[in-house]
Amino acid sequence: MTNRISLAHGREYLAIPGPSVIPDAVLQAMHRPSPNIYAGALVDLMPALTDDLRRVAGTRHNLAIYIANGHGAWEAALSNVIAPGETVLAPASGRFTHGWAEMAQGIGAQVDLLDFGTAAPWDMDRIAQALRQDTAHRIKAVLAVHVDTSSSIRNNIPALRSLLDDLGHPALLMADCIASLGCDRFEMDNWGVDIMVAACQKGLMTPAGISFVFFNEKAHAKRLAMPRVSSYWDWTPRAEPDWFYQYFGGTAPTHHLYGLRAALDLINREGLEHVWARHAHLARAVWAACEVWAQKGALHLNVADRTLRSNAVTALRLTEGRGTALRDYTESQLGLTLGIGLGMADEDGCFRLGHMGHLNAQMVMAMLGGVETAMAALDIPRGAGALEAAAATLASQP
Ligand SMILES: *Cc1c(COP(=O)(O)O)cnc(C)c1O
Repeated sequence: MTNRISLAHGREYLAIPGPSVIPDAVLQAMHRPSPNIYAGALVDLMPALTDDLRRVAGTRHNLAIYIANGHGAWEAALSNVIAPGETVLAPASGRFTHGWAEMAQGIGAQVDLLDFGTAAPWDMDRIAQALRQDTAHRIKAVLAVHVDTSSSIRNNIPALRSLLDDLGHPALLMADCIASLGCDRFEMDNWGVDIMVAACQKGLMTPAGISFVFFNEKAHAKRLAMPRVSSYWDWTPRAEPDWFYQYFGGTAPTHHLYGLRAALDLINREGLEHVWARHAHLARAVWAACEVWAQKGALHLNVADRTLRSNAVTALRLTEGRGTALRDYTESQLGLTLGIGLGMADEDGCFRLGHMGHLNAQMVMAMLGGVETAMAALDIPRGAGALEAAAATLASQP
């Protein structure tokens, strides 16, 4: 046993793909006594808060908010439009689509799963085939995970919309933007998405605990045709509450709302287009470093094609199962926590870099420097000049 001096003391950095780094402004906004939940500041902040959330989602349609994580929003969305026995189509580019599909099964839906593995985007031809064969329109919804956080694949939602339109298929297009909202460009109405689910702890920079279901009139028409919907999941009163209590089907998540208000202020101040551009530029720096490391063959980016990668998360693989060893090193020795491999055959070999939310260029360099240090300590073969490549990318204007 060697007695190594840990260099982890100091401010820790959680660089996992959710929950993301919480801005001090959000933490400070939450540090206050419990407010009145019947009248006053908390009640008054709701109209602007829901407007701002709609703006970030790119929709002028409806929003229901739940005190839940993303899994809660998955179930809420399904519960409003999918009756037992009805069919959903689930094209999967990673673990998260499987999770949503399993939840659909749990509420009695029939799931047609198209599994494209853990490193490929949707195969539009196979989706088209499944929809074309469905002449009776049994398929009531397509479960479309925009960014699958396990694989870091970003799927093409506008292309899926065009496909549904070209085939005249009436299925609802349901998007999971839990990882992508506020990171990768997403425009609900322009892209023809009927239902979108999101949560507050990734691009929205707030502690986990609130999630969102955005839905348009087509989706609401399906809701109205449902035989029954549990009154807690029912999005109707939440989207058009007669009084404050109905927004949350009970007591409001008081402090989360103040935190979320502060997070939306940050997004408003920066501007959503700029937020997306920042994520894109920072992601390119991450990839530049990873592509240099990969030159020696020990490290691989899970997604080879840059145009298919999310700007919020990068999944990586090390040969010989050394992903876990690398993560253990960065956490215990450097104060840097990286994401675990998820949904992969060789999870011990995999790790993920979260680069979502409250993130700037120096944080990206710190994260990459931590990975470089760990690879040096563990003697992992890697191309030289990764940090220089990242710095050069950051220095070049997008
Ligand atoms: C994080 C995530 C989820 C799950 O969200 P929880 O808040 O952990 O329940 C679902 N889908 C995607 C794409 C995610 O990134």
